[in-house]
Formats: sequence, structure tokens, C-alpha cells
Amino acid sequence: MSDPTGAEDAPPALDPAQDALFLDFDGCLVEIAARPDAIIVPKELGKTLTALSERLGGALAIVSGRSLPELETFLAGFDGPMVGSHGAESRGLGRAPVRPEGLAALQDEMAAFCAEQGLLYEPKSLGGGLHYRARPELQGVTEGFAAELVARYPGFEVQLAKMAVELRPGGVSKDRALEMLSQIAPFSGRRPVYAGDDVTDEPALAWAEAHGGFGVKVGDGVTAASHRLPAPDQVRAWLKAALEDY
Ligand SMILES: [Mg+2]
Repeated sequence: MSDPTGAEDAPPALDPAQDALFLDFDGCLVEIAARPDAIIVPKELGKTLTALSERLGGALAIVSGRSLPELETFLAGFDGPMVGSHGAESRGLGRAPVRPEGLAALQDEMAAFCAEQGLLYEPKSLGGGLHYRARPELQGVTEGFAAELVARYPGFEVQLAKMAVELRPGGVSKDRALEMLSQIAPFSGRRPVYAGDDVTDEPALAWAEAHGGFGVKVGDGVTAASHRLPAPDQVRAWLKAALEDY
């Protein structure tokens, strides 16, 4: 892998006494699939996360763009904190979801656009995804439609993702989620370690680097992270290694 940013090194072993671990889901813990509902979740993943969370004194959270109910389904067996929809909803943190006005009407328009264009619509609890993976030539049209939507639904923002354009509540992001988490127990006072694969993870990777911790970029691409792992199976091996050393 050649990369001009210098993010070549595998991450060091986790330090369970000092680290707070924040993990993206798609493309980080599991491989991206052709459709968001077609991912394969290794059977032991929930258990690994639970064991690691115990070792970290509970300082492990999932931080994802996925809807919370989906995360809970895919990661059954892990009962720890989760942040979904890029920070707009969470579990186990005592925070109310961010639900802007017009959600249902926005989702109807997104579904209709996808049906018309032959794209995959991903309904989300607080927004939705327009997936052009099957018709990449429609990226520009899709982005244009999303821009037009947020002009009419000002509570929402456009979030570009891998082969998809998402609409999510405004004012949320993964780095803001990290900042919030890092102020509460058991995360506060620990070294933030964040792993993620997508452009949506970059602000969070940069945040971890800027706050005494480090980021782990998963896969190729320019990144603010100082460490890199090539694919989700290596991420899972890195997590498991932290369980074996004790
Ligand atoms: Mg991801």
C-alpha cells in the first residue's frame, strides 16, 4: 500500500487500562456488501465486543451512520453504548434522538426518487440513504437531488458516503459524537482510539489524533489517522489480540 499521508503503520496493541475505543461498523468491523442489508456479521463479533468492553471498563462504543435498530440487530450480543445515524441517536447514553421536522415526507421523496431512478433506497430511522452502487453514472444526479432536498427540508444535511448519498439530521457528526462521549464516564479521562473506513470517519479520526489518542484508518485512501489496517478481518484480529494478552 503506498500512501502519501504516512499512515502506514498497524496500530499498537490496545491498552485496556487507558484506552477508550470507538468503532465504526460498516467497512470497519464487517465488510461492505453490495447492499447494506447483505453484510455478513461474524457470529462471534458481539461476544468479542462484549469481552473487550469489560476489559476496557466499559469504554467501548460503536459509532456508525447506520440506524440504531439495525446496529442492535447486527450486533446482538453486545449490550454496550452505541451511537447511530452519525450521532443523531444513541443507546445507553441517556440522550434523546435528534428528529427534525418533515422526516416522513423527506423519506417518501427519497423512496420515490430511488424507485424512479432504479437506485436502492435505504430507509433509516432518522433519514435515509440513496445508493447508486448499481448505477454509478447517477452519482451527479443523486447528489443534485439531495442538495435540492435539504434546501426544502432545512433540518437535514447531506452526508456523502461510499457509493451513497445520505440525508441525516443537521448538526450531528461522528467527531461531535466522540467529543460528547469523551466527556462522560467511562470514556472521560481515557485515550481516544477511533477506527473507521469512510470519509464520514475522517473528522473522528482527526479528533482522536488531536486529543491524545490515535485513529486507525481501515482500507485505502488519504486519512488523518496515524495508523492503518487493510480490512475488517484485520480489525477484528487486532481487537481479539487485546483479549489474548491477559
Ligand atoms: Mg464505515
